[in-house]
Amino acid sequence: MIKKIEWSKYFKIQPHKVDTFVKNFGANKTYAMGLMPIRGPKGFRKLDYEFAEKELNINKIMNKLEEAHFNSLGIVIKDTDGACTWDTKVGWNPTNRDVLGEFCDAGKETNIKINVSFTSMNDAYQGYLHPERVSVHGESGKKHGIYYKDGEISTHIEGEMRVDLPKNVSFEEYHKKIPFLTDQVDEKAGKSRDARGKGYIPLTSFMCPNSEHIDYLLELVIEVVKNYPIKGFFADYIRYDGEFTDLCACNRCIQKFRSNYGNKPKLLKSNEWYDFKAETIANYAQRLHDTIKSADSKCVTGWFCLPGPKKLFSRKRLGQDWMKLSSILDVVSPMEYPYLMGTRDDGWYWGKVADFFYWYFVRNMKKRAREFKSPALTVTNSVECNTEEMIKQIRSFDFGLGIAVFKYFGTSEEQWKALKLYAENEIGLENLKFS
Ligand SMILES: [Zn+2]
Repeated sequence: MIKKIEWSKYFKIQPHKVDTFVKNFGANKTYAMGLMPIRGPKGFRKLDYEFAEKELNINKIMNKLEEAHFNSLGIVIKDTDGACTWDTKVGWNPTNRDVLGEFCDAGKETNIKINVSFTSMNDAYQGYLHPERVSVHGESGKKHGIYYKDGEISTHIEGEMRVDLPKNVSFEEYHKKIPFLTDQVDEKAGKSRDARGKGYIPLTSFMCPNSEHIDYLLELVIEVVKNYPIKGFFADYIRYDGEFTDLCACNRCIQKFRSNYGNKPKLLKSNEWYDFKAETIANYAQRLHDTIKSADSKCVTGWFCLPGPKKLFSRKRLGQDWMKLSSILDVVSPMEYPYLMGTRDDGWYWGKVADFFYWYFVRNMKKRAREFKSPALTVTNSVECNTEEMIKQIRSFDFGLGIAVFKYFGTSEEQWKALKLYAENEIGLENLKFS
């Protein structure tokens, strides 16, 4: 068994903030399972509305979570495709179902509280509907075989998700339902993280964080927080697209940058520009936080953070200032997925790749934990890794509040058993009960 890391040495968070979080949450420890309703019954490489509509069995899911002693469910209510899986008047819901409402109802009779994850800037459907709100490239270049030009919008083929046509439905018909679907097909699944999908390839868009897309998001937020008894609201993709360094160079952003910083600083590559990106994302965080609290002052606000180098990645590419964002939102959720980068089950080489990322993620967090001004609750993966790797991550990245596991579909029976034993023997059932 690997030794637990003394994380309290690395974090510099005021104790009252941790106390407030635990009090708001209502149990000493969080043990959360993530669920993506529209990614099908296995991993997360499919975009599958048919499954969400016809096969997603809410009671079966809640029973399984209770049996393994989970006290929290994190539902991805808005995924990167833009689908909104609740009863919405503002957004696009292709599932014909109020998935969130059904989970909230089922949760009432259990020890499980409902949290939601909300994809913010990445939104394929909005990219189709509002190309004028999509972020714009400021340079020409090539990435993963995709060419893009200065001035073009950042709508590209999706790296992760693929789509199968439902039985007896033609591509043309299905294209009406998923207008961002292309007729290109990915035939073979690979082993690296971005090559595991198979099927029709959809488009994906990163929206401009200075556009009306933000107003649209906040309208959705009010709908969710006002109408559903959720415990926490977590913003995902609260950032720029990490694949590119030249976003967003639309007229809105350039004008705003010039009016804030004058005509001297260089676009795309100056310190002022990186400050501007971080401020843009922090402004969204502030508006999001205020909107959530105005609808329900007790709802916990959170955000997902990608580990990596501070300057090159968090600042220059993502526009995520950890200190700023964690001063605004109540809790941060670092995504510690080393064994999603590879697994020993795919052979010795991929085991080594993943071990390297594990080492790197621990080191990165030790180095950067002091940037957080709020408590941190890690989310780590159970999909696409084996039981031993999963438990190793769970143990190592519990920073004191508990752990969230990603995700329900794709977790093996052996892993479910291990998760149950982990709750009983390492967290302690008394810590998971709500007061
Ligand atoms: Zn822009």
